[in-house]
Amino acid sequence: MAGRYDAIVIGAGPAGEVAISRIAAGGMRVALLERELVGGECAYWACIPSKTLLRPPEVRAEAARAAGLDRPAEHWPALAAYRDFMIRNLDDSKQVEDYRGEGIDVYKGEGRITGPGSVQVGEETLSSERIIIATGSDPAIPPIDGLAEAGFWTNRQATTLSELPKSIVVLGGGPVGVELGQFFARFEVPVTLIHAEERLIPREEPAVGELLAAALEEEGVDLRLDAHAESVTRGPAGYRVGLSDGSEASASELLVATGRRARVGDLGLDSVGIAPGRNGIEVDERCRAADGIWAIGDVTGVMPFTHVGMYQGRIASADIAGEPARASYDAIPRVVFCDPEIAAVGLTSAQAREQGIALATSRIKLPEVLARPWTYEQDPRGELGLLADREREVLVGAWAVAPLAGEWIHQAALAIKTQIPLAVLRDTVAQFPTFSEAYLKGLEALEPAI
Ligand SMILES: Cc1cc2nc3c(=O)[nH]c(=O)nc-3n(C[C@H](O)[C@H](O)[C@H](O)COP(=O)(O)OP(=O)(O)OC[C@H]3O[C@@H](n4cnc5c(N)ncnc54)[C@H](O)[C@@H]3O)c2cc1C
Repeated sequence: MAGRYDAIVIGAGPAGEVAISRIAAGGMRVALLERELVGGECAYWACIPSKTLLRPPEVRAEAARAAGLDRPAEHWPALAAYRDFMIRNLDDSKQVEDYRGEGIDVYKGEGRITGPGSVQVGEETLSSERIIIATGSDPAIPPIDGLAEAGFWTNRQATTLSELPKSIVVLGGGPVGVELGQFFARFEVPVTLIHAEERLIPREEPAVGELLAAALEEEGVDLRLDAHAESVTRGPAGYRVGLSDGSEASASELLVATGRRARVGDLGLDSVGIAPGRNGIEVDERCRAADGIWAIGDVTGVMPFTHVGMYQGRIASADIAGEPARASYDAIPRVVFCDPEIAAVGLTSAQAREQGIALATSRIKLPEVLARPWTYEQDPRGELGLLADREREVLVGAWAVAPLAGEWIHQAALAIKTQIPLAVLRDTVAQFPTFSEAYLKGLEALEPAI
């Protein structure tokens, strides 16, 4: 019967795409609703364009650090053209066609829940006993005097730009502000980065923010930490941002990167008795939000990462298939793709203390203990921090600020997820000379020793 489905997914970002593909593969009749582009924020305005834009300036900086090399020249138009290819020129027609070819009904329009089991999209009313909400998040815009009137960029304008700005003020020193700020700085755009807290990337260990601040300042970023933007005006000369300490910052563009907010407005949640919490739609460990309703991805506010949304897509589809799936977020890697890369997993020391865990910790400088930083570049750098539970003798957290850290953090993720005993980790051999050898050094440096 037209309009009646085994499952309906609202939102075709990475979370919704994983869920729909898995549910359809299980033989169910499914509908996918998308009001903008199939692929979501990640594919067009977030992960994919930002990582594409960051890589060439990273290679250029790496070349300058490698012995006997000059900096390669950069060509912005060629990079912008490659970015456009990577974001499919903001065209999802092939994705829509592919899904339809797989027997998935795609509705391009805004979905709204109108009651238990019922979803409206355009003129159509669809029904299903299983509704999966995967509507993602929007930028959270702070209530700063004059900001709305002045206008500003969000990640959308910054990741799809065709001309580099003359200068830019970035509001926010979280992952998005840091990555995009470094990208602009590396294309010789003067950058002022304003951050309300004392340290950048405040969700991580204080050492991470300190190391990052030093690296960004060395590259010429004008960092204003512990500073609140209080007013914004825009005139012919560009933006002026008034700060809480009485100083000002000015630039031709202003980028707001002050966090994300779950997309729950206009979804009709009240019609099914869901009242979203402060961070989004609250879900249980099976990603259930209410009877017959699942929520996955940024809209849940659990952890705003594509890999978390995709994981929740796997959990929800497994739950729908009747499998005993339960989500656990203890060992989710958290990477900031700046240079040097930041990677972390598990608990920070503040979180471990809150949980009453007796910690042994270490913090090592990689060039002092390893060969790899020296074979990698002539001005070697990098640090690793480990946190271990002294009673259970397992790792509970790790962080690194170092080249390729986003790749080698996964050993720590596996160790934390599976609670590998420290003795086994110490008996595990890493290839010489690699950054992965840092783990043994970090384990040997734990204090108090275990
Ligand atoms: C600049 C930037 C860089 C990032 N880089 C990374 C990174 O490197 N790695 C990483 O893991 N994460 C990164 N993130 C976070 C990542 O983009 C998000 O976690 C991810 O996109 C969330 O996926 P999602 O499917 O939950 O939502 P989204 O990707 O936001 O997709 C939700 C979809 O739902 C649609 N939708 C919304 N409401 C409706 C409705 N009512 N009806 C129909 N459709 C609707 C939207 O149009 C959208 O297409 C980055 C974020 C930003 C802003």
